[in-house]
Amino acid sequence: MAYICTRCKHSVEIDYEVMGIRCQYCGHRILIKERPTLIKKVEAV
Ligand SMILES: [Zn+2]
Repeated sequence: MAYICTRCKHSVEIDYEVMGIRCQYCGHRILIKERPTLIKKVEAV
């Protein structure tokens, strides 16, 4: 499962059971789920 490190913004593949949640690049522990959080502009009609 892919996460984004909130600090360095790298995309990190996390395997919880193996290593827990941690950025492989900077060691930061706050990651968010990688989801294209595109700002959709939805016109409410
Ligand atoms: Zn990081």
